[in-house]
This record gives sequence, structure tokens and C-alpha cells, in this order.
Amino acid sequence: MPKLATRMGRAKPSAIMVIAEKAKRLKAEGRDIVSFSIGVPNFLPGEHVYAAAREALEKDSGQYGSNRGADALLDAFLKHIEALGLTGYGRENISTGVGAKQILYNLAEAMLDEGDEIVFPAPYWTSYLDIAEIVGAKINILPCPPEQHYKLMPAQLEEALKRKPRVFLFNNPSNPTGMVYTRDEIAALADVLVKYPDTWIITDDIYNTMVFDGVGYHNFVQLRPELRDRTVFTDSLSKTYGMPSWRVGFIAAPAEVAKAVTTLNSNHITSLPEVATAAAIAALSGPQDIPAKMCKEFAAKRDRVYDALVSIPGVVCPRPQGAFYAFPDISVAFGKKHNGVEITDDVTFCAALLEAKGVACVPGSAFGEPRSLRISYSCPDEALDKGMARIVEFFAELS
Ligand code: PMP
Repeated sequence: MPKLATRMGRAKPSAIMVIAEKAKRLKAEGRDIVSFSIGVPNFLPGEHVYAAAREALEKDSGQYGSNRGADALLDAFLKHIEALGLTGYGRENISTGVGAKQILYNLAEAMLDEGDEIVFPAPYWTSYLDIAEIVGAKINILPCPPEQHYKLMPAQLEEALKRKPRVFLFNNPSNPTGMVYTRDEIAALADVLVKYPDTWIITDDIYNTMVFDGVGYHNFVQLRPELRDRTVFTDSLSKTYGMPSWRVGFIAAPAEVAKAVTTLNSNHITSLPEVATAAAIAALSGPQDIPAKMCKEFAAKRDRVYDALVSIPGVVCPRPQGAFYAFPDISVAFGKKHNGVEITDDVTFCAALLEAKGVACVPGSAFGEPRSLRISYSCPDEALDKGMARIVEFFAELS
């Protein structure tokens, strides 16, 4: 057989999908499975989104669209980010993609030559590592353990930026931890960033409207406008609008970066489908009651998960304040046994939990923190309570 490209040796299938597939397989075998593994929202967009999509289907020109995104979509996104405090951008600053994942890949291609350094905190969203590896970047991961609430400290950032990495990649609210940086924390990191002008800043803020407890959403550009010339804000409709399979993502960026991403679009995807474009415009410009209601519901689900986790002796869980994830430190279980099965690390823990209790969680090592695991709590309350009760039971049975 001919040989595959060397980069495929660095590309791995998503660890999250591996667990999700195993949970699916067990379910198909008739097991009662609760899946906390995959990060998809458990709600759908409003009828106005489907109506716009149906209308677009009927009028579909059947032609390719704009590489950057339809003007009406760019305008709808510009209005949307104004509400987040990102003002003064024009169409030339925006580009679109088939979800945030594809845009992040485009950004990596646009900014990183082979061997250039990218820096990001751990825990990180799994694809950051994979995308950086595929483009052959040098990767510097900044560990942010549970003791510092999984948050990046200004001194850590400063140390990393002294090496003049090409890209700093930052995610807020966080997948997998559910942590949200406060205004003061963002300001302190921004104060460091202004001192190091050689580094691009990519913020992956796709959960930006899913923030609880009044902590609010903040970003570097809002607080330090001088960072705008090298900061890329990344957004998506997948989570906040319940539209993962519509595959619509955005950036607001310096014009040169938006142009580079648009050029890559012309080679990778050409354009978004017309139907997805129409649905996205309707989602961004129409009633915002469903996303707002879901945010409230997720806050209540967070309480159910958090209360169960902190009731377990030895489990430490910084309180999540956004997205729909909890990321407890479960290392108290390491070195113990469940029904004779040894728990040595996060992977054996998750395997034993799935086997014994039918609860699927993702091992923290998939996100660069092997002491923890990720619970995606975007599911009905009944399943949530059942799954959490089984996790509590599992810990109680450890010996
Ligand atoms: N960034 C983060 C932090 C995510 O959690 C995800 C999806 N799990 C993405 C990006 C990709 O989202 P999209 O569906 O828009 O490609």
C-alpha cells in the first residue's frame, strides 16, 4: 500500500468520540447507559430558524456562495457581537466557516509555519492539540491544575510569552472545565498580553452567552482595545443556539486575518450552504428567548451535578460557571478497587464506571489533566440525576 502523509502519524481520532461510540455500542446491546460524554446541547433552535431554512430551500439558487460568508450573515454577526461589547468591526473583519473547528484549523494554517510555537493552557479542548499537531507546530502547554481552579495565572502567561510564541490560544468559558474568567482575571491577563506584541491571540469564546451566577462574559479586546490588531474572536452557533449540525462558525479579527481565512475557505470549502446561511441569519437576528431560557436551565443542571460531586468525600470540583461541563478531580479513587477492578488512573476509572454503572464520562487526560474527568451535563434532569446517583454509588463502593 502507498504510504500516508507523515502528519497522519500525529493525527488521532477524538478521545471523546471513542467513549461516545463505546457508550452507544453498550446501549445497542441493551444496557441502561447514561452518557455524559459528548458535548452537544440538548435543545433545538426556534421555529423561525426552521422557517428561514425551508424558505431558503425553496429559493435555493444552487450556486456557490461567498468565500467570506453572505453579506447579510456578516451583518447579523456584527450586530450580535456588538451586544457582547465588540464594537467598531466591519464586514472586512469577519469571516465564516463550517463550525468553529474548521475556522480554528484555518487560523492554525494561516498563522503557524511548521515548527512555530503555539501556547495554550491545560485543561484544553482536545482539538487544539490535534490541530496544532497536524500543522506541525511546536506546542507549549501551560498546566492549570484544580488547585488554581483550572485557570491561567498572569505570571504563567508572562513566562510563556517571553519565548515569543506565534500564537496564544485561549478558551473562555472553558470546555472541559466550565470555568469562566472574571472581568478582573481577563484584565490581568490582558495587561500581560499588551506587553508582548509578537504573539497572535486567538480566543475561542463559543460558549460566550452560556454564563451563570452573574459573572458575565469578558474578553481581552473589550478591556484593552489596543489588543484588537492581533486578537481573533471565535464564535459558533453550535452550542449557544443549539445548532451543531448546521456547521456555522465565525471570527471577528484584524482584516488581514479575516482575509487569510477567507482565502483558505476558497480552497477548503468554497462557502457555507445557502440553507445553513439562512438559518444562521434567522438565529442571530430573531428572538433570543430559547438561548436565554437554556442558559437558565443549564445553571440549574450545574447545581444538580455540582451538589452531587461535592458530596463525595475526597472529590474536588471547582464550581463551573458556564457552558455545560463539570470537571471534578477524581484522583482520590486512584489506587483503589471497584469490585476487584483496579483503578490506576482516569482512563481505568472511566472504563470501570462505564462497565459497572453504565455511566460514560471522558477521561481528563483527553484534555491534558489526568487527575480529572469531564461530565457533559447537557441532558434531561432525570438522566442527570440517575447518572450522578450512580457516580456517587460507584465511589461509595471503592475499597
Ligand atoms: N471550541 C470549543 C471549546 C468546543 O467545545 C467546540 C465543540 N465541542 C468547538 C470549538 C467546535 O465547535 P463547532 O461545532 O462550531 O465546530
